[in-house]
Amino acid sequence: MALLTGESELGHPYWWEEAAPAETADALPERCDILVVGAGYTGLSAAIAASDCGARVAVVEAGLPGQGASSRNGGMVGAHPRLGWEKLAARFGAEVADAIFAEASPALNWAKAFIEAEGIDCDFQQTGRIQLAWTGSHFDGQKRLAANVRAKSDVAIDVVERADLGREIGTGQYHGAIVFPEHAALHPAKYHAGMLAAVRRRDVPVVGHAPVERLERDVTGFVATTPRGRVRADKVILATNGYTTRPFKWHVQRVFPLPSYLIATEELPANLLGHLAPGRRMMVETRARHSYFRLSPDGTRILFGGRASMRDVPLEVAAARLKATMCEIWPELRDVRLSHAWSGNTGFSFGHMPHVGERDGLHFSMGYSGSGTVMAPYLGAKAAWQAVGDPRGQTAYSRTHLPRHVMHLFDTPHFLKPADLWYRHWVDRRENRAARRQG
Ligand SMILES: Cc1cc2nc3c(=O)[nH]c(=O)nc-3n(C[C@H](O)[C@H](O)[C@H](O)COP(=O)(O)OP(=O)(O)OC[C@H]3O[C@@H](n4cnc5c(N)ncnc54)[C@H](O)[C@@H]3O)c2cc1C
Repeated sequence: MALLTGESELGHPYWWEEAAPAETADALPERCDILVVGAGYTGLSAAIAASDCGARVAVVEAGLPGQGASSRNGGMVGAHPRLGWEKLAARFGAEVADAIFAEASPALNWAKAFIEAEGIDCDFQQTGRIQLAWTGSHFDGQKRLAANVRAKSDVAIDVVERADLGREIGTGQYHGAIVFPEHAALHPAKYHAGMLAAVRRRDVPVVGHAPVERLERDVTGFVATTPRGRVRADKVILATNGYTTRPFKWHVQRVFPLPSYLIATEELPANLLGHLAPGRRMMVETRARHSYFRLSPDGTRILFGGRASMRDVPLEVAAARLKATMCEIWPELRDVRLSHAWSGNTGFSFGHMPHVGERDGLHFSMGYSGSGTVMAPYLGAKAAWQAVGDPRGQTAYSRTHLPRHVMHLFDTPHFLKPADLWYRHWVDRRENRAARRQG
């Protein structure tokens, strides 16, 4: 059986069928108050917030606005911290861990209100998100996390015992789960397109094919050089996350591009989908392989993503690996073909948490570590408020930090090659052995 359908699109995200990144015709201004570098969720949200504070804003983008992760992701919406409270406390201190937990609900509510206020039509559905435990010990950890979430935040969370999992997912692979009922689904590229429309309503120029190649500082601010000309700005906000390159060396050394791959199946019968995913939630796993999967917004196919590799591999290879993982969960899908396979860069920090801050006068927000549909626009707005001195810029995510790692001393993250081998040949196998041992 061929892996891909006859019309399969390799490298073309499923989302682009309805909302592909497009050219803008805006010219680069000679000067502005705030220059935003990067036109993904972070940059566009920063532009909206800064413009609403009265600043003259311009956005420059290396390629087409939205061509980065913001039009390629899984569209899963949630803001619970990626790390449990204990890990956060170990990395950043108990007070910061408490503040991050406390900010989860406000961040999610902010994103929902933002979508509503800007009238963004992005197939938003409050599906809830289920995190499925691959092993019994993962499920024990989830119960501890649920207790912490209840004690330290307003986030709603439910524990689902193994015996009750059948109402959520049609597989016997998992040992239990936690559900975040307030989490949601959206169409990521339509979400980006709606944000871009909101920026343009404010008459903010968004200039494509204008990578910032040099950024110089003088007494009055910055001069950014791009192939489309130079622009002078009082303040600059860096919003390049997993696509950050030189000249932003300090950030390159702290936020690295970790690819994530996604496949879309061909359209599937409604009764099969009802059997596979009766809960119709956003689904993620506890495995280090970090698979995440969902129904498409129109409910006709499965979109399945994960760590097919930690570095760039041919999409045919990545698609075959993802399909094999999908069939471990749902063997019924063995003969199903794929319509799309694509990838994008997540921007990972070594602390696995984002940071909003300023370095040598350059403001930035990045390091969402694979969780940015809420955090990127939310923290993009925070970065803008910090840049204009608005008190709404306060956030616990300015109290995290972006550590360096001894394995990442140069611009290219060479460490991802050995890390990929380590994960695939040791961590993944160990987790699968543990799952088999624990039944
Ligand atoms: C495959 C995949 C699946 C994901 N799934 C989810 C999910 O389900 N839920 C979730 O919450 N998060 C998910 N994420 C993460 C989420 O997509 C990101 O965190 C978010 O989109 C980051 O937005 P951003 O604006 O910071 O970065 P991006 O959208 O990546 O934008 C950065 C932009 O900066 C531009 N740029 C870079 N350098 C320069 C320069 N020098 N000058 C000008 N422009 C420059 C790039 O071209 C790019 O367009 C996923 C990510 C990927 C890749």
